[in-house]
Amino acid sequence: MSGRPRVIVVGAGPGGLGALARLRARAAEQVELTVIAPGARAVFLGGTLDVMLGRGEPEDFCASLRLDGVEVIDAAAETVGAAGVRVGGDWLAADAVIAAPGLCLRPADRLPAWSRAVWAWDPFGAAAARAALPELRAGRMLVAVCGMPYRCPPAPFALAVGLSDAHYDAHHQTRVSAATPEPMPLAGVGGEAPALVMDAAGAAGVTLERAFVPDLEASRDGVLVSVDGRELAYDGAFLIPPHDRPACLAGLPGDGPLVPVGPRGQVGEELLYVVGDAAATGLPRAAGIARGSGEAAADGALAALGLADAPAPVPLEASCYMFHHGGALSRLRVTVSPDGPAVAIDPPSRDLAPARAGEIRRFLASAAGGPTGGMFSERPLVGPGDGDPHPGPT
Ligand SMILES: Cc1cc2nc3c(=O)[nH]c(=O)nc-3n(C[C@H](O)[C@H](O)[C@H](O)COP(=O)(O)OP(=O)(O)OC[C@H]3O[C@@H](n4cnc5c(N)ncnc54)[C@H](O)[C@@H]3O)c2cc1C
Repeated sequence: MSGRPRVIVVGAGPGGLGALARLRARAAEQVELTVIAPGARAVFLGGTLDVMLGRGEPEDFCASLRLDGVEVIDAAAETVGAAGVRVGGDWLAADAVIAAPGLCLRPADRLPAWSRAVWAWDPFGAAAARAALPELRAGRMLVAVCGMPYRCPPAPFALAVGLSDAHYDAHHQTRVSAATPEPMPLAGVGGEAPALVMDAAGAAGVTLERAFVPDLEASRDGVLVSVDGRELAYDGAFLIPPHDRPACLAGLPGDGPLVPVGPRGQVGEELLYVVGDAAATGLPRAAGIARGSGEAAADGALAALGLADAPAPVPLEASCYMFHHGGALSRLRVTVSPDGPAVAIDPPSRDLAPARAGEIRRFLASAAGGPTGGMFSERPLVGPGDGDPHPGPT
């Protein structure tokens, strides 16, 4: 042991990688860094859409972790606390813990098994779903959000538009609808975002069913039923499972999937932080928000350990993409400052595809030994800039 304080980061999504980048940039020589990540890899969840639409494979959205000076443990943490982490039955002591395990999708054995429906909301689930979903040449296709909160507010509607376009291009007689428990899509984001999504759905011929809270007990194969008794019949359905709290956070405060946290992600106890999708912040479940909250927690931990000042948190920023009929993308840029969240919209354009591809590339580079800062920023970090074609799937 070096005698330096040890900081353990749990999870290598945007939240965990943001924390690690910050810790490496500000205190690489002063702390021992460990990351616990199943498969010792990072997965870009937004690739779910590309995989489901047949534009890529899950492996295109994964990178093995290779971060100089960081010990990587290929495992899932069993419990987390301020004093350490239980993993593989052993206790790893730490001086600070930053937990960023995301949200976990309800497992298949706790979901109904219907022949006409698939459950997925990550790239590997999407690959299995793509193979399992009956290929429709005519009939009703449904994309439904089956619980709140869920990751990435516009993504289910982007998927519905993408599926509708794919059926249109293939001259199939298929009608796509999308259902959400929200009173309107992106109600929590506000501003012009709901109108953008509703217009995009309308233009692509996607029917929207709003305030549709699925009652899975009352539903059956081919018919999704809402708690207020509405029925949506389908011939094929892509269902987004309810998101649950990861088991490693089970002992922490809060009843639902999310853990209540302080401004830097602190959880009651000093030197324990929960960041990213698992934190109850009232903000959208988006990568830039997760990354920024990881950075803020890293600053908080360094200050609490007496190693560095904690600068004022920088405004959180996230970019989420909406798909439009004909292959254009729009971008919703959410910024969270002390005045609250604000959303700006880049209107539909084919020119935004390289920007999205650049975000994927930079995320994967940040896991695989890329520079420590700037993940997801507009500034190119590795290889060609955003304007250049992406070698990957998008
Ligand atoms: C279809 C889809 C599209 C999206 N599109 C966008 C977009 O366009 N823009 C945007 O900003 N966001 C988008 N998002 C949302 C974004 O991906 C998430 O908000 C972000 O990944 C959350 O980061 P996180 O680090 O909190 O969690 P995650 O990304 O979920 O990462 C958590 C990591 O922790 C690991 N882990 C879990 N349990 C444990 C454990 N017990 N021990 C150790 N490790 C563990 C997991 O394997 C995972 O690698 C999208 C999400 C989806 C599903």
